[in-house]
Amino acid sequence: MRRFAYLTTSVLIAVCASSSLSGSRARAGQAPGENPPQPKFRLPADVVGPTRYRVDLTLVPDQDTFTGAIDIDLKFAKPAAVLWLNAEKLQIKEAALIMDGDKAPVQVITEPHDYVGFAFGHHVGPGEATLHATFQGEISRKDQQGIFQMKDGGQWYVYSQFEEIWARRAYPCFDEPGYKVPWQVTLHIKKDQVGLSNSPIISETDTGDGMKTVKFAETKPLPSYLVAYAVGNMEFVDAGTAGKKNTRVRIVVPHGHTAEAQYAAQTTPTIVNLLESYFGIPYPYDKLDEVAIPLAGYAMEHPGLVTYGSAIIIEKPDQDTPGRQREWVSVASHELAHQWVGDLVTTAWWDDIWLNEGFASWMANKNVNAYHPEWKMNVSELNAYEGAMDNDALVSARQVRQPIESNDDIANAFDGITYNKGSALLNMFESYMGPEKFQQGVHRYLLKYEWKNATSADFLAALAGDDSSLASAFSSFLDQPGVPLVTAQLACHDGAAQVNLAQQRFFPLGSSGAAPQLWKVPVCVRYPAGAGEARECILLEQQSAELRLTKTTGCPGWVEANAGANGYYRVLYQGDLLDDLLKNNAQELSLPEEVALIGDLAALTRNGKMPLGKALALAPAFARSPARQVVTKTMGITAGLQENLVSEDLLTRYRQYLLDLYGGRARDLGWKTKPGESEDARLLRPSIQSLVADGAEDPEAITKAKNLALAWLDDHKALDPDMVGVVLSVAARHGDRDLFDRMRAAAKKETNENFRGNLIFCLGLFQDPEIVNTALPLALSGEFDVRESLGILFAPSERRQTRDLAYDFVKRNWDLMVAKLPTDTGAYAPYVAAGYCDAEHRKDAESFFTGRSTKFTGGPRILAQVLEGIDLCIAYKNAQEASVTEFLKSYTPAAGAGSR
Ligand SMILES: [Zn+2]
Repeated sequence: MRRFAYLTTSVLIAVCASSSLSGSRARAGQAPGENPPQPKFRLPADVVGPTRYRVDLTLVPDQDTFTGAIDIDLKFAKPAAVLWLNAEKLQIKEAALIMDGDKAPVQVITEPHDYVGFAFGHHVGPGEATLHATFQGEISRKDQQGIFQMKDGGQWYVYSQFEEIWARRAYPCFDEPGYKVPWQVTLHIKKDQVGLSNSPIISETDTGDGMKTVKFAETKPLPSYLVAYAVGNMEFVDAGTAGKKNTRVRIVVPHGHTAEAQYAAQTTPTIVNLLESYFGIPYPYDKLDEVAIPLAGYAMEHPGLVTYGSAIIIEKPDQDTPGRQREWVSVASHELAHQWVGDLVTTAWWDDIWLNEGFASWMANKNVNAYHPEWKMNVSELNAYEGAMDNDALVSARQVRQPIESNDDIANAFDGITYNKGSALLNMFESYMGPEKFQQGVHRYLLKYEWKNATSADFLAALAGDDSSLASAFSSFLDQPGVPLVTAQLACHDGAAQVNLAQQRFFPLGSSGAAPQLWKVPVCVRYPAGAGEARECILLEQQSAELRLTKTTGCPGWVEANAGANGYYRVLYQGDLLDDLLKNNAQELSLPEEVALIGDLAALTRNGKMPLGKALALAPAFARSPARQVVTKTMGITAGLQENLVSEDLLTRYRQYLLDLYGGRARDLGWKTKPGESEDARLLRPSIQSLVADGAEDPEAITKAKNLALAWLDDHKALDPDMVGVVLSVAARHGDRDLFDRMRAAAKKETNENFRGNLIFCLGLFQDPEIVNTALPLALSGEFDVRESLGILFAPSERRQTRDLAYDFVKRNWDLMVAKLPTDTGAYAPYVAAGYCDAEHRKDAESFFTGRSTKFTGGPRILAQVLEGIDLCIAYKNAQEASVTEFLKSYTPAAGAGSR
């Protein structure tokens, strides 16, 4: 699965489930006699498991409920009086147990929440039996979990999303990933509609009542979370065939969108072919449908029926952009990689979900690099790794392998640590082992566990073979939180050189963490040797170690202590090493190394090892780089300081500094695509114009954006599609009531999902308090589908001028939020306080949200991370404000600056 945020522009927000919003539950009576032991969290694995499911569902769009029947073939390992299954928001109509040809009714136990018990009245088993149950469930118009519906072009469509624990909203089942068995699905749908599931259709029968019965082939073994359905008036785009088995590929879109699926259709077969060739195993399933779901903010890897939010998979050709296309190839590579890692081999339990998600993220990066090396995905992925490192610096950070003891833990498991730290670790150990050896290990792992479940230990055993030190090094990163800070110092004596290395956990200023930790860190260094250069690696297992530079006779002129930027660690250079690297504009460094170095400099301001003023002084040299990735990386040091670190009297100087760094480049790039320009220029333009207009407050840029926004509202051809977001944002931040009304009216009429998302989000960016107070209620009022209007709540919290309004709104309307918010996003409500940087608001947020954050599954850890973030911000401000002030006071624009 891949989740996408549209809650805020700066924080990637995942989604999670709610246990508090359950609907009505059947109360068909208690079992006779004494109460049987209820499951506490997991189903009792040693008693009974499924061997096969047969599911029969009637799904009609624009209805609020569905009906269904399920037959579960069971194998009792020991006698049991009650069969416990997962179920939520279901009314069980009738249930029976079939054993040895006899069918006997069973009693239904509806407590505790999340479970249903089927009581037989006597002990059953060991042996085989079949449970039969009929039920009614909910087709949600608010959530995008369980069975839900979305509207497009005036028509409703029904879809499903069962990861993590929402198959239990569709039918009673063993809703844990370890129960992996075949499913035979039958759908009853309207005669003129399309019904899809994971496997090919084997028959369609008209039932004469305006309905038809669609029967699907039995699936390969699947856990409950990978089964999927789609029903409605959908259309197909043929994408040819893919893979060694010539599997048929189709893009499935809501009615009227076939012309928008061309890029997805063109690219999917290549993506599948590249994955097949890396994994060395043919695409495992009998068909591949890729389905566009209107408004959905995620993509999901169901075997044979991969689903994507429409904004990810389809776009009108004349409104398409390089950014959207790159994102598509990356997301599709992730979901299709899951067909092997996740689907063919499935994590045994949620504590190893990194084996699905970290693996698919890592494989997607590799796949995009193979497909389009000129996109330099290996550089882009560093930003995702660094996002994980920032999260990993928190005391409240999860481990990659975090014990899972509650539904909260399951929800929290789908975070940046699982996806991006997991991916970064695979990248680090691949580089350390060598790509070929690593690939052989991956192949061994997939072959050994195909159609089954696996654990981290299984993966590491397949990867490392007899090399126990490798497995234990990998585990040292999986089983403890945190990112190592590696210090590097060069020592030269008598013609011999060595790098003295030491490790400690990276803790930012203000962190309460202090406990010593040790990892087994693969550290690789690069340095000049003779006419060329050399690379040497060491497994840094103790607190410190010496790495002899054996390929040089003298003292090397520079040392890069994270060769290729493949290590999941921060580097603190000591002595002259940093100056040596920076001496020639860092030209000794590769592009990934340069980007990682800038990231490390930004991180070192946060742990106090580098004054922010010094980093601001170093930034201009990088900002002049011809490489887009380097320029945008400097913004992590330079941008956003006006919120908390620059005093009122120095704002003009700070803005001048930004203009000096980026203004010239912004003017050169302009606001429109130029004939023959590179994609890099196109990709840099929005971020640099945004910083110049919104950070440097350049009046010329603001006026330009406002004029362009008005022109675009009249005619979409007035603007390149990739500039729409930035232009509308700048115009909104500086806009009046008239513009707000126009954007609101335009959002209601807009049919392009990306543009509509831009417009709705921008409603929250106006600064006039009266407008903000008009905008905030729109997030919950139903004027827009709540699944796409939430950004309005979070947009004002990004700026200090409007932050209080959003925060107060959430506090005043909490009960309404609990009732209206989709179950996947409510847990992120505390993010409305994340921009604060003072003790008073921190205390207020803690007292308000503690107790309330539990209303949404996963909420408590998210609140803890928001509060820790405020603590760190306070400490950072206290430590670095003087340094910024000193830098800005002595700052004088360089001659000719700003017009490079
Ligand atoms: Zn995924």
